[in-house]
Amino acid sequence: FLAGKAALVTGSTSGIGLAVLKALAGAGANVGMHGLGDPKVIAKLRDEIAAESGAQVAYSAADLRKPAEIREAIKSVAGELGGLDILHNNAGIQFVSPVEVFPEEKWDAIMDVCLNSTFHATKAALPYMIQAGWGRVINTGSMHALVASPYKSAYNAAKHGVAGFTKTLALEVAQKNITVNAICPGYVLTDLVRNQISSTARIRGIPEGSVISDVLLADQPTKQFVRPEDIGAFVLHLCGPNSAAFNGACLSIDGGWTAR
Ligand code: NAD
Repeated sequence: FLAGKAALVTGSTSGIGLAVLKALAGAGANVGMHGLGDPKVIAKLRDEIAAESGAQVAYSAADLRKPAEIREAIKSVAGELGGLDILHNNAGIQFVSPVEVFPEEKWDAIMDVCLNSTFHATKAALPYMIQAGWGRVINTGSMHALVASPYKSAYNAAKHGVAGFTKTLALEVAQKNITVNAICPGYVLTDLVRNQISSTARIRGIPEGSVISDVLLADQPTKQFVRPEDIGAFVLHLCGPNSAAFNGACLSIDGGWTAR
């Protein structure tokens, strides 16, 4: 049902974004992969997605800390795919530390990648959706867009900002056939999570082996990680024929994390 549509997913060289990209391509969209990583691995992923889905797969390595690169990425992907109907602002980074020793440069990096890039990319992409008379903006929030956990001040602040931006834009474009939503996953076992296991163990003074059960999944009632492919399927629904009334929402996919 997405034949003829073009979709860009930021941070789609791994993790959640990669699963979303595969889902969109599988439903017929031409897709723009974006993100950092080993060029050989990325080229292989692009080839695999194109071969499996028949989709055209563009690619951008824009650094999301640089607004000019973000604008250029939107322009070049839209140029290559013949427009831009779906933008999923998904890239994100994490850093775990108490506020009193939180490094300023980490705060700035998290704000840039998680929040500021969402504004810059969306601003650049909206004209294509307005011109097409249809569009979908999806932002990856988190359960930490809705509630907090200690030692993640920058991330929680940026993700709560993503929720606020989502609601505001949804109101602005509601009558243009463009919907804007945030998806709010609980823990998904991606590189982003694997990379915080050692620092979380250090700060909390517990063994690394206990971080998954005692910290990450402690508040996830299912005691299971959310699966990236389930998030891909959900994003597909938000772009599908029965999605028009989902707008301005922060949609939890968190195994019940925010139910308490
Ligand atoms: P990941 O580390 O697997 O993927 C992050 C992606 O962002 C990669 O493609 C990476 O190249 C890209 N990226 C990071 N910094 C960049 C920069 N400066 N410029 C360009 N690209 C950059 O992580 P993930 O878990 O798949 O995270 C995806 C999103 O989901 C993030 O916004 C994250 O905050 C959110 N999220 C993750 C979880 C989880 O448990 N994994 C839970 C809730 C929300």
